[in-house]
Amino acid sequence: MNMITNHLPTAELQALDAAHHMHPFTDANGLAAKGARIMTRGKGVWLTDSEGQKIIDGMAGLWCVNVGYGRKELAEVAARQMEELAYYNTFFQTTHVPAIALAAKLAELAPGDLNHVFFAGSGSEANDTNIRLVRRYWQVKGMPEKRVIIARKNGYHGSTMGGGSLGGMAPIHAHGGMIDGIEHIDQPYWWGEGGEMTEDDFGLARAKQLEEKILELGVDKVAAFIGEPIQGAGGVIVPPKTYWPEIQRICDKYGILLIADEVITGFGRTGNWFGSQTFGIKPHIMTIAKGLSSGYQPIGGSIVCDEVARVVAEGGEFFHGYTYSGHPVAAAVALENLRILQEEHIVEHVRDVAHPYLKERWDALTEHPLVGEAKLVGLMGSIALTPDKAKRAKFASESGTVGFRTRERCFANNLIMRHVGDRMIISPPLVITPAEIDILIERARKSLDESYASLKADGLLVAKAD
Ligand SMILES: *Cc1c(COP(=O)(O)O)cnc(C)c1O
Repeated sequence: MNMITNHLPTAELQALDAAHHMHPFTDANGLAAKGARIMTRGKGVWLTDSEGQKIIDGMAGLWCVNVGYGRKELAEVAARQMEELAYYNTFFQTTHVPAIALAAKLAELAPGDLNHVFFAGSGSEANDTNIRLVRRYWQVKGMPEKRVIIARKNGYHGSTMGGGSLGGMAPIHAHGGMIDGIEHIDQPYWWGEGGEMTEDDFGLARAKQLEEKILELGVDKVAAFIGEPIQGAGGVIVPPKTYWPEIQRICDKYGILLIADEVITGFGRTGNWFGSQTFGIKPHIMTIAKGLSSGYQPIGGSIVCDEVARVVAEGGEFFHGYTYSGHPVAAAVALENLRILQEEHIVEHVRDVAHPYLKERWDALTEHPLVGEAKLVGLMGSIALTPDKAKRAKFASESGTVGFRTRERCFANNLIMRHVGDRMIISPPLVITPAEIDILIERARKSLDESYASLKADGLLVAKAD
């Protein structure tokens, strides 16, 4: 048997990695110069690296390992499904039990009349599916001109051409361009962009941009709006409470489709099964991935409402699909993951135990001289680093300089906490216990202290002039 273990010393593995492995979203030469950290094991919220260090994973991998690492049931289900039926497609009038059972389960869990599931291999693929689905929907309804999708600047919807175009991240657009028919409005990021407005007024103003954009383009050209209930990769930007109700009102008024990208916010992350429930959003389509399988298998999908599914079906064959749509092993693992989430009351654990416990400690981080605001919804949190809290000031240094330095301190202190620009973000496994939250906070404080001392020593605690 080909046992993949860490059979070589760390330095040799790092050299092979640098020589042959192209990392996603990575400066290859920068990484090669210092060597990637090699993770070897995971259990609960803990990772072990090739040097035997035990690291607390404040990011649940990439926001996905909701039930925590090392769940034997998921390994067993995968092995059993591979022996029974390792693969079959769902294209040509065939199906299989894992895809059927998972689709039915998702229809049961998803709110409202979101009753139909189109499977993909990832969140990016699912959003590519959504672009085609909403355009097909209007085509079948005899309005093929309605094809523009409105999204937000600094949104993240994946990194394929479609997903990257829906996303509003200029560095991604700069590498390879964008597809046509996507328009971006401003994000509801009060701390960074709210100026003198109150949070509530700012939330309304940013939502109203959707209406302005629809009127500018003409409602006969607009197919849909897409947004993450909470922007994740953009820095865990929690919108003001006025934002989503106004977006919903505008989508309803103009009859455009609403897509909630729930890739991060789904499956318990916000203390409900879906972020749409937390924010009172009624989407026509939800994008799912990540926590759907807790990352144990690559799988994503679109949960589609009755009306959209009915219209698309009326159009006859929909020329779209992936070899691995509804892959039986991935579907079986996802189904078992949902069973664990449900039977172990993990969503309730987030809502009633982990969130309230973390919230108090997370908010207290604003006492630290480096920390401006702290946001936490369920187990998705962020803090803004600032040289001047009262002014919500940015640093004079290039955005991300302070965040990166702080992240390096976290990494050195065996805490995985990411930075987006100069915001620090967390999204730990949903099974995190109060005792583990104490460790996370203790390491975060130590890292903030060290970062603050080094920034001070280097004269970097300087606000940008406005
Ligand atoms: C991660 C993410 C995606 C992309 O999912 P992949 O599985 O990486 O393709 C899409 N939308 C959101 C909100 C995400 O966080």
